[in-house]
Amino acid sequence: MHDVIIIGAGPAGLSAAFWCDELGLDTLVLEQAEHIGGQLHRVYNPVENYLGVKTRNGAELLELFSRDVDAADFDLWTGTVIDSIDLRAKRISLRSGETLQAISMIIATGVRPRELGIPGEKEFAGKGMIESGARDRELFAGKDVCVIGGGDAAVENALLLAESCPTVTLVHRGRKLRARREFAERVQPNHRITVFTESVVTRIMGDTEVEAVEIQRKGGLKPFQLAVRGVLIRIGVEPNTELFREQVRVDEHGYIVVNGECQTSVPMVFAAGDVSNPLAPTISGAAGTGATAAKVIAARLNRKSSDG
Ligand SMILES: Cc1cc2nc3c(=O)[nH]c(=O)nc-3n(C[C@H](O)[C@H](O)[C@H](O)COP(=O)(O)OP(=O)(O)OC[C@H]3O[C@@H](n4cnc5c(N)ncnc54)[C@H](O)[C@@H]3O)c2cc1C
Repeated sequence: MHDVIIIGAGPAGLSAAFWCDELGLDTLVLEQAEHIGGQLHRVYNPVENYLGVKTRNGAELLELFSRDVDAADFDLWTGTVIDSIDLRAKRISLRSGETLQAISMIIATGVRPRELGIPGEKEFAGKGMIESGARDRELFAGKDVCVIGGGDAAVENALLLAESCPTVTLVHRGRKLRARREFAERVQPNHRITVFTESVVTRIMGDTEVEAVEIQRKGGLKPFQLAVRGVLIRIGVEPNTELFREQVRVDEHGYIVVNGECQTSVPMVFAAGDVSNPLAPTISGAAGTGATAAKVIAARLNRKSSDG
């Protein structure tokens, strides 16, 4: 019986575990990936907005986190797949056949990039699908590329790619870009970027690598093809809550609903980080809510034991 089982070892889960250890709680962290860090592995841009720390990218920040994690005294199981979970009973069955039991749980499973679900999207992974403008800028230098999406991430990536690609076609299904003004204002004067609003990419095509996209414009009769050698998709994220959705209150997009103490609708089950933060996901927010959940649990367990 553990005091706390934390699910997910991104910034939220790690911060929660660090605090649980500091507060003397018997803690187990379960991470499905082979490595800890969550989205930090996809952050190729400099991290300049985590108070007191500036790093070249997410990997460098993770190195700093790892020093504290290595020095702390909690159990961390990576590559661990949860088969089923009973939140009320605080019981977890692992794919390995093992059953785990805890007094409390912290869900810190974060978010994943939303997929378009169009032909070619998966087939061309690593063959012209661009993961990050910051990382892949040089790889796609001199090539025409397409960016799908209209929010901050899409527009920021289009601007980055336009530094080294002759043309960047930004395809957005809405009428106006949703990106913050600071980014959107830089798009129009950039002669390398063409924006198709009220348009969708319906197919990514090619022989062995990406060679074109098929674009359908609203009101257009027939889709047309645009020759490109790279495609980057940034159409938002979705919360990793499939395991829990039937048991805990979630909003209309599947994010876990919590109160100011990170408490979910199930007693002694907490959520921290992006999985319960649709509006303002940040590393600081993840670290902060992880700490909050840990402190609230410690306070409740102490109260319980002192109450007898
Ligand atoms: C390209 C990019 C750039 C960014 N730049 C910044 C920035 O400059 N500043 C900033 O503040 N934020 C930035 N962010 C956002 C920041 O990375 C996230 O807010 C932060 O990582 C959220 O941490 P988290 O722990 O809540 O979730 P995540 O980082 O998503 O971690 C969740 C973890 O849970 C694991 N998991 C999921 N499901 C299960 C399961 N069923 N069982 C076990 N484990 C599971 C995942 O494998 C993952 O390791 C950026 C994000 C991206 C993608």
